[in-house]
This record gives sequence, C-alpha cells and structure tokens, in this order.
Amino acid sequence: MQGKIIKGIAGFYYVHIAGKGVYECKAKGIFRKNKIKPLVGDDVVIDILDEEKREGNIRDILARKNALIRPAVANVDQAMVIFAISRPAPNLSLLDRFLISMERQNVPVVVCFNKSDIAEPQEAARLQEIYENCGCQVLFTSVKEQAGTEQIRELLKDKTTVVAGPSGVGKSSMINFLYPKAEMMVGEISQKIDRGKHTTRHSELFSIGDNTYLMDTPGFSSLYLTDFEKEDLKEYFAEFRKYEPYCRFQGCMHLSEPDCGVKEALAEGKISSIRYESYKELYEELKQKRRY
Ligand code: GDP
Ligand code: ZN
Repeated sequence: MQGKIIKGIAGFYYVHIAGKGVYECKAKGIFRKNKIKPLVGDDVVIDILDEEKREGNIRDILARKNALIRPAVANVDQAMVIFAISRPAPNLSLLDRFLISMERQNVPVVVCFNKSDIAEPQEAARLQEIYENCGCQVLFTSVKEQAGTEQIRELLKDKTTVVAGPSGVGKSSMINFLYPKAEMMVGEISQKIDRGKHTTRHSELFSIGDNTYLMDTPGFSSLYLTDFEKEDLKEYFAEFRKYEPYCRFQGCMHLSEPDCGVKEALAEGKISSIRYESYKELYEELKQKRRY
C-alpha cells in the first residue's frame, strides 16, 4: 500500500492512505535499505500488519522531490504565510524572515493577508505593493466574510503546502472553514498517540482532500536565520536588484557606502523603507552571529 507520512513521534510514523485512513507504522529495516530516516511528507510503501489495529511497517520510501529543514518535511510544493492586514498588525520583519527562509529552500511562497473586512483599503494596497514588488504572490482574504477563500482553496488543491502565521491572524479559522474535516483527522491521530506517548507539538500534515496536504508550522514567532553569510542577504531582496548596477562599488552592501543605487531608490520611494529596514536588521543579526 502506498501512503504518506503525516506525523512522526517516538519511533512511530503515522501513514495516511487515501480512502483508508491512518496507520501506525514502524520503520524496521528501512534505514539499512535507504540510508535515510523517514520524514513527515515522505511518500512510502507500507505493509499492513494488522488491519484491525491499523498497524503497519514502512517497507520503502519513495524518491523525495525536496526536503525542508525548517520545518522538517519532505515533498513540499509551496508555502502559504498568513498575516492579518490589521488586528494584529503584521510583523513584516517576521514575514521577510519567512520569505528568505523559504526562498533559500526553493519553496515558492503565497502571502495571504487576512481580515480584509476590518482593514483600511490603503493599508491593503500598501502591503500589496511592497510584496508584489519583491516577487511574491499576494492574496487578500476575509474568512469572516468568506472573501478570497475560494481562491485559497484552488491554490491548495493537489499540493502539499506548509502553512505559517503568527497567532491571532485567523489561520485556524481559515483551515477550519476550508476543511472542516481536517479537525476530525487530528482527533483520529490523537486517539492513537494518547496511549502514553509524547504529546509535545510535532510537525504534522493534515490530509484535506485527494492528494492535498497542509502542514501547520508551530513556533513561527521566533524565526532566526542562521546558516548563511550576511553578504548573501541582499540576494533575497529581489526588488534591490534593479538598482544595484547604479552602486559605485561592486559588492556594495547598500549600508554606509557612498553612491549607492539602492539607497537612492529608497530615498525616491522606489524601494519600501520597511523592506530596507528589515534588510538592515537581518544584516546586523547575521553579523553578530558570526562573532560567537
Ligand atoms: P489563529 O491564531 O491565527 O489560528 O487565529 P484564529 O483563527 O483563532 O482567529 C483569531 C481571531 O480572529 C478570532 O477571534 C477570529 O474570529 C478572528 N478572525 C479570523 N478571521 C477573521 C477575518 O477574516 N476577519 C475578522 N474580522 N476576524 C477574523
Ligand atoms: Zn548599494
């Protein structure tokens, strides 16, 4: 039987088989054979050992399309990050960190700004301009008024999507509205796991339709970029690129250098000051980190 690992806990893997449900599996012998540890998101072949108890063993891991490190998940098609346009006001530095983290892992990102029903239109327009300028797909929704939600449903269909967002933005409302059954799935797995095993929060995928999975990412509020050089940071600010040929110095970091094309564009309002501040903040952070 072929299925997908939707959760891994204490040496057990929970494998979802379309139309059949979830099986609790071990992965005996798999490391010896594939030399890899199973990951949430892996497409696997399992042997069902006990149909009644829903237990099985993972026999094979199919070739991975990709494997993310943060969050640890395989075969991701895209990421969707949700913020509210207001209440709570979006933490754009956090959003920028998320965009960089996903771009580094070659995962396309959709930015969803929720609560359009209570937002000032000019605030939405401002966010749209900033984030379209840096090459993101930007969508606006109101779960409350069911605006834009069908577009999200279409976007998620037949894909595995990592969903992130700080609390209070309407992420659970969105998931529950789009897929009321996602909740039932959680119940089904919890029942099995509650038999005295860990209950800490782990990465987990929800099956929300044929061939459609969502991964809710816990711990989003403290996203630190660690594993790269500050000199590479500007590559992740796509809207800078156009102005870099106007910098006097090759390898200009667009900070204190004179005759900087990026800073000129910033002064003329062609580059968002919010994005530029994010850049400076992250650059400093990476600089500090290297000293340790
Ligand atoms: P989460 O923490 O991101 O999962 O957010 P919740 O789904 O728990 O929602 C947080 C609060 O925002 C709740 O009071 C929701 O009713 C409210 N909320 C969610 N979506 C919307 C929306 O589109 N518009 C408005 N006005 N409120 C919303
Ligand atoms: Zn420059």
